[in-house]
Amino acid sequence: MQPLVDNARSFPDWVARRPELFRDLAAGQAPMALFISCSDARVIPSLITGARPGDLFELRTAGNIVPPYDPDRPGGEAATIEYALCALRVRHIIVCGHSHCGAVGALVRGDDLAAMPTVRTWLQPTARELPVSHGVAHAVRRHAVAQLDALSRHPAVRDRLARDLLSLHAWYYEVDTGAVSAHAPRANGEFTPL
Ligand code: ZN
Repeated sequence: MQPLVDNARSFPDWVARRPELFRDLAAGQAPMALFISCSDARVIPSLITGARPGDLFELRTAGNIVPPYDPDRPGGEAATIEYALCALRVRHIIVCGHSHCGAVGALVRGDDLAAMPTVRTWLQPTARELPVSHGVAHAVRRHAVAQLDALSRHPAVRDRLARDLLSLHAWYYEVDTGAVSAHAPRANGEFTPL
């Protein structure tokens, strides 16, 4: 933990060497995309994409799951999506799954999650639909595409898709190689290198 504290203490020095960038950031944000990824510590959206501060609006959840839209039970995920679209007018949403994903791997292996009842409940809707017979990598890719379906049922997303103001993307990131591939609907739904 101490390295994190040390860096936070010296961070103002780093900012002071980039005064224009951070003055602009203080004036507002205009991110290029909403990036939805797993909470996994090995997935670093700004490192993968080269995004600078202000470029990505992020939503991170266990297993990069987008919960089904439910107006009676609004949650942080739906609020984040709505804000990105309605307030920040983001034109792209990227759902990025990753190799070695603990959440998807647990479902593929059929792990006993009794000791983590909240995780079990969170993953339950995914468990019902996840293809598990072709391994974790395949499951992660299909799972990322399934989140696009869940996204498209959120009213703000549906509205902007209908007006051609929004594009949805599913990516797959390999932790051990850094390679990123993207779902290509025109290539039989396969994932092809970016
Ligand atoms: Zn993960």
